[in-house]
Amino acid sequence: MNRFIGTRLSRWLVFALCALFAVEPALMAQELPTLGEAGGEALSPLEERKYGEEIMQQYIRRSPEYLDDPETIDYINHLGFQLVAASAARHIDFEFFVMRDATINAFALPGGFIGVHTGLILTAQSESELASVLGHEIGHVQQRHLARSLGRQRDSMLITLGSVLVALLAARSGQGTNAALAVGQAAALSRQLAFSRNDEREADRVGFQILTDAGFDPQAMADLFARMQQGTRAYASVAPAYLQTHPMTEERIADMQARIRTTRTHQHADSLEFQLIRARLRVLQDESTPGLRDRLATFTDQIAHHSAVSDTAAYYGMALADIKLKQPAAAVEAALAARRSTEVPSAMLDDMVALARYEAAGNDAERDQALQLGREASAHFPLSRAVAMQYTDLLQRAQHHAQAIAYLRDQLALSRTDPDFFNFLATSYAALDQKTLQHQATAELYLLLGSTPAAVESNCNLPARRPMPISTP
Ligand SMILES: [Zn+2]
Repeated sequence: MNRFIGTRLSRWLVFALCALFAVEPALMAQELPTLGEAGGEALSPLEERKYGEEIMQQYIRRSPEYLDDPETIDYINHLGFQLVAASAARHIDFEFFVMRDATINAFALPGGFIGVHTGLILTAQSESELASVLGHEIGHVQQRHLARSLGRQRDSMLITLGSVLVALLAARSGQGTNAALAVGQAAALSRQLAFSRNDEREADRVGFQILTDAGFDPQAMADLFARMQQGTRAYASVAPAYLQTHPMTEERIADMQARIRTTRTHQHADSLEFQLIRARLRVLQDESTPGLRDRLATFTDQIAHHSAVSDTAAYYGMALADIKLKQPAAAVEAALAARRSTEVPSAMLDDMVALARYEAAGNDAERDQALQLGREASAHFPLSRAVAMQYTDLLQRAQHHAQAIAYLRDQLALSRTDPDFFNFLATSYAALDQKTLQHQATAELYLLLGSTPAAVESNCNLPARRPMPISTP
C-alpha cells in the first residue's frame, strides 16, 4: 500500500472510530471547552478563539473533506490576507482553509477560521467574485456576529454545537441513518446559529468596503449572486448551501446595486495563481482514474482551442493529472510547457517542474537534478510554505535525511512555527534512528497542537495533520 493511500485510509479509520464513539451528543460536547457562565454576553475574543481552535482540531482538520494541500492552503490564505489587511480586523489571527465539497459555500467559525468549499472556487468566474464571498465572511468575524450569537446561547450551545458538528461530518461521509439524523440536526443548528438579517446586512456592507479597499472589483459580488440565482438549472444541486445560509432577499440585492452605483469600480486582473489553483482543484476533486483521464482530455481540448488566459493553467493541470496517472514523462512535458507559457514568476509552476522531474527521474543523478530545482524554488520563494513542504518531502523520499534536517532547522529558525515542520523533523530523526531528537521534535509538535503526548496516544486524538505528498514514493 502506498503512503498516500495509507494516510488517507488511516485517517478514514480514525475518523470512523471517532464518529462511531461520538454519536452521543453529550459525550462529544465534553471535548469542547465550556463557554463560561450563562448570561448572554458575547464570548470574549480569547474564548472565541479557543472554541474555534478546538473545532478545527477536533472536527475540521480530521474530516476527510479537509483539503490538506499546501498549494491550496497557501493560495486561499494569501487571498484572504489581502482582504484582512484592508479590514478593521487586522489584529485577528485569521486562518483560511478549503473543504473538498462541490457545493457552493463558505462559512466562518468562531475565532477567525474561514472555510471555503472547492465548489465556490470553481464556480467563481473571477478572483474578485471569490474575494467578495471571503470579504462577507470576514465582515461577520470583524463585527463579532458569531461571538454574540454564541454568547446569547451559552446554555444550549454546549450540547448542540458539538453534536451537530459530529452530525455534519457523518452526513458528509454518507453514513445512512446518521446522515438522516444529521440533516435534521444541521438544520436545527443553522436555524439556531443563523445570523440575523441585520447581521447579514452588516456583513454585506463591511464586506463590500473590504473588497473595494483591497482593490478588487466591487461588481463581482452582484455578478456571482446573479449567476447563482439565475442559473438554477446549472446550480440546482449545489447552489442551495450558500443560499440557505445567506438568503438573497431583494433588499440585499438592491442594497448591493445601490452601493455599486456610488462606488468607482476597479478593474482587477486575476492572479496567475487563481487560474492555477482552479486547474489544480479540478484534478483534486476527482482522483479516480476515469476522472483524471477525463480532466486530461478537457485540458488538452482547452489548449487546442487556445483560450490564451488559461493555457498555462491547462498545462499545469495536465502535469498534475499526469503525475497522478503515473505518466511522469508526459508530466515533465506539460510542466515545462506551463513554465514556458508565461513570464510571471510562480512558485506553483516551479514546484510542478521540480516534482515532475523527480517523478520522471530514472537514477540518482536525475533525482539530484530535480532536488536542485526544489532548492532553487525554495531560494526564490522563501516565504512559500508549499515550496518548503514539497522540497522537504522530496528530500525525505530520496532518503537525504541529514540534508532535510539541516533545511528544516533553517526553516524553523525563520519563525516557521507550524506543526507540519516539526512532524517532518521527527520523521527524519526517526529515519536516522536519533531517538532523543525525534522525541524532542515530537514534543514540540504536540505543544503546538495544544495537546499532551498522552492524549495523542489515544485513537481519537492522533495528530490530525501529516503533510500529504501529492504523489507516491
Ligand atoms: Zn453571511
